[in-house]
Amino acid sequence: MRDAISADKAHCWHPFTPQERWCAGEHIPLMIERAEGVWLYDSNGNKYLDGNSSIWTNIHGHCRPEIVEAIAKQAATLDHSSYLGLGHPLASELAEKLVAFFPEGTLSRVFFSDNGSTAVEAALKMSLQSRLQTGQEMRRQFLAFDNAYHGDTLGAASLGGVNRFFSRFKSLGFETNFLSSLEELSRIDPTVVTAVVIEPLIQGVNEMRPWPEGMLARLREWATANGVHLILDEVMTGFGRTGTMFACQQEKVVPDFLCVAKGITGGTVPLAATLATEEIYSAFLGGAENAFYYGHSYTANPIGCAAALASLEIFEKDQVFARLPEKISYLAKSLAKLESEFSQIKEIRQCGLVAGIEFEKGLGEKITLKARDHGLITRNILDTIVFMPPLAITTAEIDFAIEAISRSCRFCL
Ligand code: PLP
Repeated sequence: MRDAISADKAHCWHPFTPQERWCAGEHIPLMIERAEGVWLYDSNGNKYLDGNSSIWTNIHGHCRPEIVEAIAKQAATLDHSSYLGLGHPLASELAEKLVAFFPEGTLSRVFFSDNGSTAVEAALKMSLQSRLQTGQEMRRQFLAFDNAYHGDTLGAASLGGVNRFFSRFKSLGFETNFLSSLEELSRIDPTVVTAVVIEPLIQGVNEMRPWPEGMLARLREWATANGVHLILDEVMTGFGRTGTMFACQQEKVVPDFLCVAKGITGGTVPLAATLATEEIYSAFLGGAENAFYYGHSYTANPIGCAAALASLEIFEKDQVFARLPEKISYLAKSLAKLESEFSQIKEIRQCGLVAGIEFEKGLGEKITLKARDHGLITRNILDTIVFMPPLAITTAEIDFAIEAISRSCRFCL
């Protein structure tokens, strides 16, 4: 067999990656071989802080023993079993734990899938189908926000507002109306709208842009008043990123659908869930013709459920939410200092332990790649460097990461 890099260049196709640049070696072709805590190790033995939590998934640090053990035990007990008309105990336990985060009688049903896109896709299809089965056929339109990102499956992509990703496919998906702010709701005819979809508190792929405070609660009010479903896409914000288990809890908002993935297993194995209200669920009763004919082979995979349950236990054991406020304010102070040192920083945006450092045009990628030489791996979105470390990061590790960005700036600027 050839070495891993040559085999990769010959046969692998990476997501969100201009392949010819990757193959030309413009990006240093890193092969990550192992991980521990907030650290990733490459095939040359170099160590990097995981500054974007391995694409926003990792929560408690890598290879956390309790999760490793839970996965190993489950793999040896029940690796997989179909969830189509069958159940398994860990999915039942996980569903019970997820709905317990919300007031009784609100979100009460959990539909499992594999990733963030399918969690959103399921919510969109459930919303539409429920309208057809409750005499509301006229409600066929979705509302989404400019620059939104809800995943890459066709339905989720048709609600995506990032044109460079989605413009080619938009006409193939759901009928969607885009809003830039809540003020634009006044031009909408709500009687034809089935659901409004939003990333609560902060838009991720839109260069980490927080919404104005109170916006989510106002959107909830509008949706309730107009009989429109509120779908919250917490694929990025869920599981503690913004300082609470779910971002919507900060504005005391309960949606009609809540979509979660990424951090649900602590960032270890794929799993996702779409939570829905009992009212929506009840629209799918009353005969086989009303069932929800949607699902995936690995739905509710037992290993994923075991990892998710172990991750939820660590939230308690590590008192994650008692420790987060200190880390969040430490990060804010460190970022403010960084901003004061480099005039090329246009803006710093932060929500919980999610941050975007926006540089002047043309600098984002350069600084991001150079930071690898100083031991930090992250990604830029255009000219914004994302810093979204595992929640388990220490203040000393935050110092390390900010120093890596600072050194990279000193080299590039
Ligand atoms: N929704 C949001 C807000 C996301 O940030 C993402 C991924 O970044 C997705 C959906 C899609 O998730 P996945 O990549 O797991 O399909």
